[in-house]
Amino acid sequence: MGSYCEDVNNNFTESFNKTIDKAREKPFVAMLETVRRLSMVWIAKRSALSHFQKGLCTPCVAKILDKEHEKASECQVYPSTNGCFIVTMDGDKHRVCLQNMTFTCKKYQICGIPCEHVYGVILKRTLSDDDYVCQWFRTAMWRLNYTDGISPQRGARHWPSTLGDNVYVPPEPPQPGRNKLTNIDKKRKPGASQGGRGEVVQGGGLSQSGVGLSQSGGGEVVQGGGGLSQGGGS
Ligand SMILES: [Zn+2]
Repeated sequence: MGSYCEDVNNNFTESFNKTIDKAREKPFVAMLETVRRLSMVWIAKRSALSHFQKGLCTPCVAKILDKEHEKASECQVYPSTNGCFIVTMDGDKHRVCLQNMTFTCKKYQICGIPCEHVYGVILKRTLSDDDYVCQWFRTAMWRLNYTDGISPQRGARHWPSTLGDNVYVPPEPPQPGRNKLTNIDKKRKPGASQGGRGEVVQGGGLSQSGVGLSQSGGGEVVQGGGGLSQGGGS
């Protein structure tokens, strides 16, 4: 059958990650349960889609061939012996050999769906384009891919119990790096930030002005202010 690849990207993983995005906020077991349920429905939908498909090939193939149709119908095809052809397109020439399935353009050999050159020959010879699409892009293969879905499971109360301790969320570890300034921190003036925050600074202010410490209330403020006022008095 050979290996063919029409496109190299990670779109399907991006699509899957987007699907389970909400589930990732949940605790571990609940997250896995949700991911399983979402995946089950995901597969079931695609399985249903694949069974609705009527043609020999997938809709993806039809789209690609539709795109190529204009160019393919404009190219010049010159036959040779042994099922070989010269195909000219955009001032360029390629050899297409349907008998040996060799093509100098190489695109078809890599992706398994007829390129413009091969499609040009197919159109000129009134052949069936579906017959030249590799097995991997056929509807039968698409259906087979989604045949074995995820088996539905019962809820957590029916699961066997280990009688072990419950698992709780661990405390958040301290984050590495410098603490980021919030917008409020940025707006605050450098001098004001020190004065506004520290109760001890207020205590120091009281000691300098010589106001009675008993007015400033209890706790650390009084102790801090007291220490400073003593230093100022001596
Ligand atoms: Zn080609």
